[in-house]
Amino acid sequence: MKKDLYIKCPDCDVEMRIDRDSGEIISHGKKDQPSGIDFGQALAAENNRKNELDDLFTQAAKKAEEKPDRPDDLNNDKWT
Ligand SMILES: [Zn+2]
Repeated sequence: MKKDLYIKCPDCDVEMRIDRDSGEIISHGKKDQPSGIDFGQALAAENNRKNELDDLFTQAAKKAEEKPDRPDDLNNDKWT
């Protein structure tokens, strides 16, 4: 059973997994790394924010559309 080497990357300071035989990098980073940005997470957060904004716009547009259908007493003169 071959063991992989774990070396800290000099560039980004995250752990790299190296194949001991071939010397190839098997994996790089992501292993319980507190440093650096998790792009997947950042992207998901960005998408969530976008969806929230879309929801707000949708709700606002819906509200604006609903208003004329149910005018209150003050607005009644406007529409008659
Ligand atoms: Zn690196």
